[in-house]
Amino acid sequence: MSSSTPAATASGSYLPTRKHASFPFLDLRAQFESIREDILLAVTRVLESQQLILGPEVTAFENEIADLLACKFAVSCASGSDALLLALMVYGIGPGDEVITTPFTFFATAGCIARLGARPVFVDIHPLTYNLDPGGLEAAITPRTRAILPVHLFGLPAEMASILEIAQRRDLPVIEDAAQAIGATYRDRHVGTWGQVGCFSFFPSKNLGGAGDGGMLTTNDAQVADQLRLLRQHGSREKYRYEVLGVNSRLDALQASILRVKLKHLPEWTASRQRNADRYRSLLADHGLGDTIVVPRVSDGCLHVYNQFVVRMPHREELRFYLRQRGIPTEIYYPVPLHLQPAFRSLAYCEGDFPAAEQACSEVLALPIYPELTEAQQRLIVDTIAEFIRAADHPSRSFHAND
Ligand SMILES: *Cc1c(COP(=O)(O)O)cnc(C)c1O
Repeated sequence: MSSSTPAATASGSYLPTRKHASFPFLDLRAQFESIREDILLAVTRVLESQQLILGPEVTAFENEIADLLACKFAVSCASGSDALLLALMVYGIGPGDEVITTPFTFFATAGCIARLGARPVFVDIHPLTYNLDPGGLEAAITPRTRAILPVHLFGLPAEMASILEIAQRRDLPVIEDAAQAIGATYRDRHVGTWGQVGCFSFFPSKNLGGAGDGGMLTTNDAQVADQLRLLRQHGSREKYRYEVLGVNSRLDALQASILRVKLKHLPEWTASRQRNADRYRSLLADHGLGDTIVVPRVSDGCLHVYNQFVVRMPHREELRFYLRQRGIPTEIYYPVPLHLQPAFRSLAYCEGDFPAAEQACSEVLALPIYPELTEAQQRLIVDTIAEFIRAADHPSRSFHAND
């Protein structure tokens, strides 16, 4: 990659000698350095105990999550994907059944439905929140519908009031994919505690990320919690007696011990993400880019935790290339909607079925938002975006996508 330095502009408001920036899209190393001692102590404690699977460390972590989210039960498992799978298994979902969800999400949301032999039925998203649009929900319900699976995408709560109203009227369970949204609240109540079951992920890039895979299920229903505990351990409560067909999906004590250290910092990390999001909004506004770069909309009553800060604009690819050339990392969540993925070919959806999701896929761009991101880095990012837009508006003193 070239290390081209952007030319000073006519206004002279940029650093003319600006160096090629260099920072990652997500800086997990910075986070580790800030808690290194506590992590090493926790890991050592578990290794010395040699209680490696489930056990007191895992139970303590489950209790801490239940406290944080103010729900009755938290049941850990091996990943966020498994959390979704186990939740659907509790409701006996399988071949011939349909589960309604969004096509604009991580693959696992719909993958878990299909893995059980059921059919993911997609409903288009709202173009400003990127979450499932409840307006399309009712029409997607059929006699085969067994559950509704909304996602709190990027850390923004889905429209739970409308979703739950429809679900209750149709007597359908709601399983929340809160993998990206730990700590987010809707009307002052945590996401993952509105529906029958909440699913969380501790994949390293999530707001609460382990040193590997991990997941959690939340519920207020004692029977559901009991079934989840059974299913995550081969359907077995006592040794060598198997009540139902379960799976092996447990959280390691090592992961739990690391996650417990990080959990203490989650409120401050979330606040930093929110501060960074506010800063992006005001920096973009200062540059007069409010109309060109569409920032995430946070509906009334929603607290966004910004696992991602996703903006949208036409010419996304050119902007991304321009930023990359100047050492500024961005990502695309998500480039292809699920209904057009090869793995879901058999569902026989086509292009045009979900226009809002398809348009989002061609326009979204995620900017770095991690807690340790500095104000200087954010200024550089927004200045460079502004520079790109100005160059695009005035092709005479411009760049070309291939310069
Ligand atoms: C990360 C994620 C998952 C899956 O979590 P894993 O722990 O990686 O299995 C599911 N849904 C969404 C929306 C996610 O972002």
